[in-house]
Amino acid sequence: MPHIKLQLLISKNHAKIVVESLNVKGMMANHKLAGAVGDANFYEFRRQFRRQLEYKSQKFGSEILFAHLFYSSTKTCSSCGYVQDMSLAVRIFDCQSCKISLDRDWNAAKNLEKLLV
Ligand SMILES: [Zn+2]
Repeated sequence: MPHIKLQLLISKNHAKIVVESLNVKGMMANHKLAGAVGDANFYEFRRQFRRQLEYKSQKFGSEILFAHLFYSSTKTCSSCGYVQDMSLAVRIFDCQSCKISLDRDWNAAKNLEKLLV
C-alpha cells in the first residue's frame, strides 16, 4: 500500500513527527465533506495510517506527538497567534491582525511544528 511507504519515509527521516487528528464529527456536519469522510475506506485508511506510523516510529526511534483534536492549526496565525475564521475554499492565510500572508497548509504546518518545542 502506498501510505505504508509514506510512513516509512516520514519515520526514517524525521526525529519528531506531529500528527493532527481530524474532527470527523465536525466534518460529517459539513455536507461538502460528509460523502468523502463517511466512506468506510476513509476510516480504515486513518486507522491503518496511525497504527503503521506508530510502529515505524518505534522502529526508527522517532517521536510522535498527537495534536489536540480541537487545536485550530488552520485558523491560528503562525506569526502572531491571532485566531480567525477560515473557510475551506480560502487557500491563503491573510492574518487580520499582523497582516502576514502565507499558504494555508504552510501556516498550519508552522503551528504544528511549534508543538514540538
Ligand atoms: Zn498574525
